[in-house]
Amino acid sequence: ALFLGYRMIKGKQKHSLSALDVMEAANTESTVDLDNLKLLELIGRGRYGAVFRGSLNERCVAVKLFSSSNRQNFANECSIYYLPLLQQHDNIARFLTADERTTADGQPEFLILMEYYPHGCLSRYLSLHSVDWLTCCRMTHGVTRGLAFLHTELYRGDQYKPAVAHRDVTSRNVLVRADLSCVLADFGLSMKLTGNRPCRPGDDDTMAISEVGTVRYMAPEVLGGALNLRDCESALKQVDVYALGLLYWESFRRCSDLFPGETVPEYQLAFQAELGNHPSFEEMQILVAREKYRPRFPEAWKENSLALRSLKETMEDCWDQDAEARLTAQCAEERLSELTLLSTHTAIQNHR
Ligand code: ADP
Ligand code: ADP
Ligand code: MG
Ligand code: MG
Repeated sequence: ALFLGYRMIKGKQKHSLSALDVMEAANTESTVDLDNLKLLELIGRGRYGAVFRGSLNERCVAVKLFSSSNRQNFANECSIYYLPLLQQHDNIARFLTADERTTADGQPEFLILMEYYPHGCLSRYLSLHSVDWLTCCRMTHGVTRGLAFLHTELYRGDQYKPAVAHRDVTSRNVLVRADLSCVLADFGLSMKLTGNRPCRPGDDDTMAISEVGTVRYMAPEVLGGALNLRDCESALKQVDVYALGLLYWESFRRCSDLFPGETVPEYQLAFQAELGNHPSFEEMQILVAREKYRPRFPEAWKENSLALRSLKETMEDCWDQDAEARLTAQCAEERLSELTLLSTHTAIQNHR
């Protein structure tokens, strides 16, 4: 099995492991001393794992637990974290180690240890706090930078990082550091797009290629079954960028500077106003694929300041109905850099 060799170097307690340490760790036989791992508090529950705040030899860690039925998801997430160069990027979640153990009832269970992010996911942070312009730009820029990196095929010396599609970009799969910078996380559905095993139409898992992710964030071509599998690499990147546009909308709706003299609206997930908390695939299909509906911009954004114009245009260029017309993650990153440089005072007050 793919993951059986994943072991941690016993007693290693560096603040963050480099990709090289991880590769090295993958080849050692010593096992994680799970006796020293304590699960302290359930902090998240996604589709595939339960996530705990824990401690390992006094160090605070996050532990993502997968049951044996989610072994594939676990193995996939590990294989992404082990890719060269990934752990050196500032906007990718820090992976510490992975292992398996046996539960009391004899079932195998799999765990991923990662850095603990005290604020949790972006969606949670935004539901509890509004943010100023600069903070909001930095947060969304960080996510975008992480995604642009993930999408890029890289050769550095003898190291090769394939282009990877995330395939589950949502505000719940972005984690927030104490300094409010953001990292991309949850690579359970991610897929290598280049190298020796890229996705191809006609593969056994073509279905899996086209229909994964979180329904709320599914692009119109995924909902409508019209994903272009002939250019799988571009198509899957475009699907990620669509979801990124929705993440921008969720974030900037909580930006206090964009609601001068008003209270900032409560946090909402994309399409929550229209479809509530558990939209079905069919409801999303009708709304997004057929009616081409997208999240509404608030009244307060009617002002055509430079910042608001650029911001709205960036969202629209990310969630365009025509997948090929969407920005690349790299372009989106540039747009966000430009927005970050606009002071809201100039941008909002003086360009009306
Ligand atoms: P799933 O694949 O089941 O969706 P995730 O990796 O997305 O699992 O984790 C589920 C939730 O747990 C996240 O949305 C987040 O709220 C929380 N979480 C995950 N990892 C961490 C972490 N390292 N630090 C803090 N919270 C985390
Ligand atoms: P996988 O886990 O899918 O087997 P690999 O790490 O073996 O991925 O690499 C996938 C492919 O990427 C290789 O078959 C090769 O074509 C290419 N590749 C790997 N390393 C390099 C490199 N240093 N330079 C150029 N191409 C590379
Ligand atoms: Mg998740
Ligand atoms: Mg997941």
